[in-house]
Amino acid sequence: MDKPAILGGPVAFAALLPVARPTLPELATMSGALDASLRSGMITNGRHVRAFEEEAAAYLGVAHTVAMSSCTSGLMLVLRCTGVTGPVVVPSFTFMAGGHAVRWAGAAVRFADSDPRRYTVDVRSAAAALAGDASGGAILATHTFGVPCDAAGLGAVAEERGVPLLFDAAHAFGSRYPDGTMVGGAGLAEVFSLSPTKPLSTGEGGLVATNDAALAAELRVAREYGNPGDYDSRYAGLNARMAEAAAVLGRTGLADFPEWLDRRRALAARYRANLADVPGLAFQQVPPGALSTYKDLTVRVGPELGLTRAQLAGCLRAENVDTRAYFDPPLHRQTAYRDVAPVVPLDHTDRLSAAVLTLPLHSHMRPDVIDRVCAAIRTIAASAGDLAVHFGQEAA
Ligand SMILES: *Cc1c(COP(=O)(O)O)cnc(C)c1O
Repeated sequence: MDKPAILGGPVAFAALLPVARPTLPELATMSGALDASLRSGMITNGRHVRAFEEEAAAYLGVAHTVAMSSCTSGLMLVLRCTGVTGPVVVPSFTFMAGGHAVRWAGAAVRFADSDPRRYTVDVRSAAAALAGDASGGAILATHTFGVPCDAAGLGAVAEERGVPLLFDAAHAFGSRYPDGTMVGGAGLAEVFSLSPTKPLSTGEGGLVATNDAALAAELRVAREYGNPGDYDSRYAGLNARMAEAAAVLGRTGLADFPEWLDRRRALAARYRANLADVPGLAFQQVPPGALSTYKDLTVRVGPELGLTRAQLAGCLRAENVDTRAYFDPPLHRQTAYRDVAPVVPLDHTDRLSAAVLTLPLHSHMRPDVIDRVCAAIRTIAASAGDLAVHFGQEAA
């Protein structure tokens, strides 16, 4: 059997294998539209943005999408247009932008714990975090790594407490709820990211999906400085417009996106099958009937592996395989949120943050690349005893 590279064995990859890489259209498929846009002089928020919004709405099965400069600006403006002042319940186990958007909207953050198998926000914890006076509040739930939240359970809590339900759907463009409907139509709004590590990318960009016509109309004003066109701004909006070149990238990508996503799901299944019998590695649970985008393919490292998460990451780095510890630290342990006293236990969040590791997954990866990553992991797992000695000596 081969030795792991960290113990002097052959290195699995000659060059670093990145965790994420966007799948992008060929230039030739976009050059006509880009050329026409440049010649027309209409290079932002024009006909390609309009068309991209319509095509994305059709794909998602929602009445409206509003294109934004990013998911973060989309979240900020949705919160602003909804008149939220707080408390806004967000999972601590999420990306920082969710909490930041709440803060920029001027509202207070309340952290909730996450489900240890699905990694999405725990409905009972969210309800407990919203205890007390919930007026002006909201729930902002994340479809973690592409796994859809329990939208029905959260919807019941939101309805009972009389607050809007919003989704940070940054990871979930193309995910499906257990009933087969696309993520995008639940709650008051779902906000997608189109940044480079997300399933569909326009370089930078975001999309707010909603079935609420009034909210969509307000967001179109909000992304234009709060200026409805008469230069009498109604409030301090943002410039959160999408450029035409980004929309061309989005439209061209969207045409092939279902095929990319099928490939991505097949590659994720390949990881899961290949690593199923490695002791101490568990995979995120997708609710029955639901579909994930696998924006991140994560393993949860348990004690049975015989190596810590950091040691596994170090061993893979020596094989030229890049990994990420998303989301560590969780929001409630970040400096920016040191002033937020947790109102519910966040034990599952702390354990998850300490144990998860994202492995490389690109929608256009060759399947044999995954087989080589998995072979490297199996070699590392089988050498856990020798590696423990190695790391012990290193520590001494
Ligand atoms: C990437 C990400 C965002 C931010 O998206 P941007 O388009 O970069 O603003 C928000 N939430 C989550 C969960 C993310 O992963």
